[in-house]
Amino acid sequence: MTTNETRELIVIGGGPAGYTAALYAARANLNPLVIEGVQWGGQLMITSEVENYPGYPDGVLGPTMMQDFRTQAQRFGAEFLTDDVTRVDFSQRPFRIFVGDDEYRAAAVIVATGANARQLGLDSEVALQGRGVSYCAVCDAAFFRDRVVVVVGGGDSAMEEALFLTKFASKVIVVHRRDELRASPIMVERARSNDKIDWQLNAVVERVLGEHAGRVTGVVLRDVVSGDTRELAADGLFVAIGHDPNTKLFVDWLDHDEAGYLVTQPGSTQTNIAGVFAAGDVQDHVYRQAVTAAASGCMAALDAERFLSAELHREHAAAATPKA
Ligand code: NAP
Repeated sequence: MTTNETRELIVIGGGPAGYTAALYAARANLNPLVIEGVQWGGQLMITSEVENYPGYPDGVLGPTMMQDFRTQAQRFGAEFLTDDVTRVDFSQRPFRIFVGDDEYRAAAVIVATGANARQLGLDSEVALQGRGVSYCAVCDAAFFRDRVVVVVGGGDSAMEEALFLTKFASKVIVVHRRDELRASPIMVERARSNDKIDWQLNAVVERVLGEHAGRVTGVVLRDVVSGDTRELAADGLFVAIGHDPNTKLFVDWLDHDEAGYLVTQPGSTQTNIAGVFAAGDVQDHVYRQAVTAAASGCMAALDAERFLSAELHREHAAAATPKA
């Protein structure tokens, strides 16, 4: 077991929130260490073109943007550890963070481990990610103007994605594995009354077609009742079967909702433990955009900086108080 020197700030997570927190913290001389994860970059790494991030008027590839974020934080002295945190102990300060046998300690921690869109688990889905397979209609719908797209899922997200896509696509086909939709009645009603939306119920996507073309050309559907399969031509596949926040390591310490998202104090990134902050999709199941995650990372760095200054001030005040 190696124990490293105690730092002022450790950021856990290497996506838009974590890197933005690191940038602000580094510029505030907090010498942050970012334990960014083996698969650093987050959701943007499985996105191709990003056209809705302000400051990139010509768009940018998701992985390029994450490399830019990282480089910018590094320029001001942020350090990176490309490894996964395996355990944390937030029972007392300094907080303890473990990466295997190595222990890292910090006076403040920002948790920015994000959330992952659930995947169907198909090899063909992975092969065509960013080439027609998407997990975010707000991000990618505009690429499918006058095209046919498939949306998988029967919850509110799927209805919302399908409705959003109708603004661009010529046809949206919702594929759901049951004949009953989980979504709220009002969302179902809105989707059902939209002429552009077709339904394939009791069906699952068995394969995504287009690997040879290098872009989605259709899907193979399997009827879960009869077992029959058939091909459906489509230009895009939007998987909207929910998200999982990456909070397994933290739920024993930090307040979270039923789905596992960390809960922060309103208008702040403060968690229930003073000195531990949460930023980005790990605490946001509503907006889930790179720009909102980045903004929340900035807030977390400012909150951490204020917290550390107040602590320092308190320590100095205590040291200056004459002993009785
Ligand atoms: P969700 O409610 O968990 O729905 C996930 C959907 O995906 C379900 O229909 C589920 O099918 C299906 N699914 C899951 N795994 C699948 C798989 N491997 N293959 C095929 N289908 C699969 O998730 P969500 O829609 O993201 O919503 C999450 C929460 O956010 C909900 O509380 C929701 O109300 C809320 N939300 C609200 C709004 C809104 O009000 N505007 C918008 C978005 C989300 P089954 O039904 O068969 O389980």
